[in-house]
Amino acid sequence: MSKRPRISFGKIALRVGAVTREDLEKARAAREQSGGNLEAILIEQGALSPELATSVREAFVEACAVCENCGRRTDVAERDADDVACRCGGTFVPLEKTIDAEGSDVLDAIDPSLLQSELDDISDEGASAGSDEG
Ligand SMILES: [Zn+2]
Repeated sequence: MSKRPRISFGKIALRVGAVTREDLEKARAAREQSGGNLEAILIEQGALSPELATSVREAFVEACAVCENCGRRTDVAERDADDVACRCGGTFVPLEKTIDAEGSDVLDAIDPSLLQSELDDISDEGASAGSDEG
């Protein structure tokens, strides 16, 4: 089974050239200290304009697929187009199809938690840790 490419707002922001690796590291450091949302921190630090943030969200929606069964996320740009199987037995569906909105509203309707990096308890790596997350 192939490894599941992770996705996060920061990763996509870097991919589309909206921020530099330096910007990203600075914002991630700030998030570690005081928490919060990476997108908001990047904007606050002046590394990202609100317009560019919109472009990053667009790219994020295109690249992100979510398992309807377990909620794992993946980066479809880094996996085979036909490979939509999640290790839980579920299927990855494009993020856009999981959001009940149309056009530009989709970008505002993204759950902010989806834009963040995933926590370790839904990692594909390591032993299967029983998650009681409902
Ligand atoms: Zn799954």
